[in-house]
Amino acid sequence: MLMCRDLAGIASDYIDGELSFGQSVSVKMHLMMCKDCRSFIGNLRMSTRLMQGHSSAQADDEVIDRIRQRVSSALQERQPPSGPGQ
Ligand SMILES: [Zn+2]
Repeated sequence: MLMCRDLAGIASDYIDGELSFGQSVSVKMHLMMCKDCRSFIGNLRMSTRLMQGHSSAQADDEVIDRIRQRVSSALQERQPPSGPGQ
């Protein structure tokens, strides 16, 4: 039997539809019995939708820029600065 903490671990996979058939059946069985996990899944599904929505585009660009800067500075530290194309 699926426990609440088991469900918390696979909840996002359940929302994304990435669980196996047996796993998603046991999640659905648990959700039928457990009101807490129903509202947990509901909240998670809502925030997942919000993250996929229009308002996140700018924040994503910022995060990508930050990662890109970190990667390029790491590359510069690793390589000697004497290469061509400066
Ligand atoms: Zn539960």
